Amino acid sequence: MKVTIIGGGIIGLCSAYYLQKEGNEVTVIERGDITDGCSFGNMGYMSPSHFIPLASPGIIAEGIRHMISSSSPFYIKPRLNADLMRWGYHFWKSSNARTVAQNAPHLNALLQLSRRLIKDMRQEIGDRFDMEEKGCLMLCKQQKTLDHEFHLADDAEQFGLKVERLKRDEVQALEPDVELNVAGAVLFKDDCHFHPGKMMVALKDHLEKKGVDFLLNTTVTGFEKRNEQVVSILTDKGDHPCEQLVLATGSWLPPVAKMLGIKLLLQPGKGYSYTYDHVEKNIRYPAILVDGRCAITPWGNRLRIGGTMELSGINNKVLINRMKGIYDSARDFYPGLKIDFPPAGKIWNGLRPVTPDGLPYIGPAPGLNNVLIAGGHAMLGISEGTGTGKIIGQLINQQSTSIDISAFRVDRF
Ligand SMILES: Cc1cc2nc3c(=O)[nH]c(=O)nc-3n(C[C@H](O)[C@H](O)[C@H](O)COP(=O)(O)OP(=O)(O)OC[C@H]3O[C@@H](n4cnc5c(N)ncnc54)[C@H](O)[C@@H]3O)c2cc1C
Repeated sequence: MKVTIIGGGIIGLCSAYYLQKEGNEVTVIERGDITDGCSFGNMGYMSPSHFIPLASPGIIAEGIRHMISSSSPFYIKPRLNADLMRWGYHFWKSSNARTVAQNAPHLNALLQLSRRLIKDMRQEIGDRFDMEEKGCLMLCKQQKTLDHEFHLADDAEQFGLKVERLKRDEVQALEPDVELNVAGAVLFKDDCHFHPGKMMVALKDHLEKKGVDFLLNTTVTGFEKRNEQVVSILTDKGDHPCEQLVLATGSWLPPVAKMLGIKLLLQPGKGYSYTYDHVEKNIRYPAILVDGRCAITPWGNRLRIGGTMELSGINNKVLINRMKGIYDSARDFYPGLKIDFPPAGKIWNGLRPVTPDGLPYIGPAPGLNNVLIAGGHAMLGISEGTGTGKIIGQLINQQSTSIDISAFRVDRF
């Protein structure tokens, strides 16, 4: 089978990996050159611990509280936009205990599948992306946040995840070089982390060696359809015949799907990060600073801080106060960490593709019989990349899928 994938982010490349492995002839069309983008500057967590979808009870009230401050971790740019309103309506409808209870097992299945698969992928493409399997800390400053996190740990155990509940001194013992200021933490031991940029480079190199064709700096501008098939992909560099198509364009899924007459509910959720290249006394564990709603990841002497969720449409404008919120939280949780505020021009930003219910879209495009959609992984694209790629490979090769994918249906809204 000749398969064309549009989008060279983690989801496109993982799909290419499994499709190539199964003997398909794969081409990736990418507007950029696969050296930057949302799949590069993120925090690099693979987090089976994140089985609770973003749309969950209490999230809307919390979001509204955060909107008041310019350095808060959440922001919606107020605007009259029909897509945003429909998205917001479905987000609100999904943010209840019943929907979360329905969706969490599906998210868990995809996360655990992906976590299992990364081990084989690492073995095949080479140990070149600083992967460490020591878990991830959910660090809490306030006792009530810690109590809530302990409660989540109970749910995690129900899903078969290994957790450790840690008091202040026990967390400090894990970080002997840097003073901490926290009430305690939960260590989710099945989580792992790696350098996402190095992972993207390693995966692309591997795919090139295996004969995957990359059409870089090439933007898809339209499609030619016949009956219920896409027969040609139109780009700014010419047209390409199409046998099987996978759309994996991240936050740009709605405009690309629209060219095929498909309406997808998805909003870009901007996040920021900054990477310190040399931190003398660095932390040892990646951590989510739960009350600060941001995250911190060490790789040797390197350290990345990042976070925020800004729903302000497709743009790459950096609001410096939001980075200040992330930096201040990092300093607050780790008073012993010697880091300066990032220089303004060096702050990275990326757009997470956010669906209203926190589940990705994985499956056939409605009304077309040679198109699959893979995207909308929001804050979990790295965590769910391998599983998603595997499922896309199975669907194209008409095999049964490793997990039930009914909850990820593209036409569910
Ligand atoms: C601050 C931050 C921290 C994060 N941390 C984590 C984390 O620790 N763990 C985790 O699991 N996830 C994390 N994420 C989320 C993760 O980065 C995303 O879910 C993931 O990168 C999305 O991958 P993707 O392949 O769907 O999209 P992308 O990486 O955005 O790739 C889509 C590609 O499609 C291309 N494209 C778009 N339109 C066209 C077109 N018309 N023609 C050709 N090409 C096109 C784009 O150029 C782009 O390269 C984080 C995100 C942010 C912002």
